[in-house]
Amino acid sequence: MPTLLCVPILADDPAAALADAIRAKDAGADLVEFRVDTLFDPDDESSTAHIESLVADSPLPCIVTCRPNWEGGHSDVDDADRIALFEKLATSSAPPRYIDVEHKAFSRSANLRQKVRLAVEHSAQLRDISTSLITSAHDFDTRPLNLMSLFADMREDETPRVLKIAWRARSLRDNLEAFELLLEKDRPTIALAMGEFGLMSRVLAPKFGTFLTFASLRDESATAPGQPTIRELIDLYRFRSINKKTRVYGVVGMPVAHSISPQVHNAAFEALEQNAVYLPLPVAESYESYKATLLTLLHDEHLDFAGASITIPHKEHAIRLAREDDSLAWHIDPLADSIGAANTLTRNPDNSITLTNTDAPALVEECRELRADLMDARVAVVGAGGGARAAAFALANEGASIDIYNRTLSRAEQIAEDVRTALPAAAITAYPIESLEQAECDIAINCTPMGMASGPAPEQCAVPEHVLDQWAIRMSKGSVGGGGVLDTVYNPLETPLVSACKQRSIPAINGLSMFIRQAALQCASWTGNNPPVSLMNRVASETMGGPQAYN
Ligand code: NAP
Repeated sequence: MPTLLCVPILADDPAAALADAIRAKDAGADLVEFRVDTLFDPDDESSTAHIESLVADSPLPCIVTCRPNWEGGHSDVDDADRIALFEKLATSSAPPRYIDVEHKAFSRSANLRQKVRLAVEHSAQLRDISTSLITSAHDFDTRPLNLMSLFADMREDETPRVLKIAWRARSLRDNLEAFELLLEKDRPTIALAMGEFGLMSRVLAPKFGTFLTFASLRDESATAPGQPTIRELIDLYRFRSINKKTRVYGVVGMPVAHSISPQVHNAAFEALEQNAVYLPLPVAESYESYKATLLTLLHDEHLDFAGASITIPHKEHAIRLAREDDSLAWHIDPLADSIGAANTLTRNPDNSITLTNTDAPALVEECRELRADLMDARVAVVGAGGGARAAAFALANEGASIDIYNRTLSRAEQIAEDVRTALPAAAITAYPIESLEQAECDIAINCTPMGMASGPAPEQCAVPEHVLDQWAIRMSKGSVGGGGVLDTVYNPLETPLVSACKQRSIPAINGLSMFIRQAALQCASWTGNNPPVSLMNRVASETMGGPQAYN
């Protein structure tokens, strides 16, 4: 049976709840869950009548839930009153498809269990009842210590037709534990990891045969942390086409919640008719977290984890892990090896793993847009982090002469030394960032987060404007040899640096097309196909909300 898509609706206002149920149906949901936590008041008969009408008028089959405070809900009604409501609904002329009762309540009192049994269908039910029971257990803080015994306990009773267990994931590995529970299921089961680490369990629900997955109508109407919207599930992650054989890819980093890579890669997979999905894969900052998570994902025999984009802060960790453990026998592409950082992990058809750096060739191609011949071009690189390192190695390989400027001089000196060790003929010199005042160059590249909307200095132009005044003549359009400025930052699309260049007619490119080039190389590496570059470009631009570059 295909995994159902259920939209939970907080039914505080019955009319608004019904309108949302209609919207949920239009958006493609199979089921709605009416959360009547605050609507239900046992002392007010009209509240019961409202709930009965809501269920009767629902455009989709529904679950009715009245979640108590002690299980993360908003109801302070006692168990007996909640069960009395459920019995009334189940014996009405338009009963709900399911009611949800907390396992804690169901298991702690034989008397209550008896009352629940009266209200739902089961093999010994004598009444004409079609409503089925879901029993549920939630932990909004962490993984329950007794997860396995709790799940075994939930399976003890045959009355529930569906079991639901959900907890806040501590890392991506908790998703795999949810999938393991599903592999052991004896009846329809919902096993979900909540929070930012748990998205995988929600999106991959059809791959592991989950009974249903929850999706909110809008960002702000999520009823649990990490719940995606129904649009994201259907349009972005192509939920309806995920199946047992779907390969899993993603962007490994921290933070990754606002990455545009899922939009770009999922669109490419769809265009290339790949049975594959691409997810944000947040992994905590430490090397140990990276190592433990990556190895677990790769070794899981059911996940079909086939590749990853690797971003801040794990690009260097990727190389470290491959170098540290010879038994892995991962192949490191020579350029990635010399840079000491990889942004792409590919599982090849023979199951071997390759690490590559697609930032470097993407950056070289961008520089060629500014100046066709890079041999002997003079390039100023601002910054000395991972991006600057990739730029220095890649451009030195092309025969460019490089001046690297950084706030912390020692980091720039280290890159210069490493480049010279790898390429003894390379011309590369390190300078403190203040020396930019005297810099002369054909191409300048900003490899710092200066000007990035979410960075430490969003208003700052990475190159002082009076320095750009001096560069304007040499770099201005039509000058011999050409040249210009590449800002690797792409959020916003028009960074302070790109804007200042524009005012001086200096050719300037933001980092979005570099981003697309590196993503396209990743896509080619994973699929073996020509990537749909113009589609990827369009999706990225639309996601960023504007035209992609100024040149
Ligand atoms: P990183 O390793 O963290 O390095 C950041 C560098 O910026 C360091 O050298 C740091 O100097 C310098 N820096 C940070 N804040 C500064 C400030 N306020 N003033 C002056 N210098 C500052 O980062 P990264 O991986 O190299 O990435 C850098 C930028 O490149 C990011 O904004 C990212 O968006 C962009 N990037 C874009 C693409 C793309 O596809 N378009 C790909 C990769 C990177 P210290 O050494 O003194 O700390």
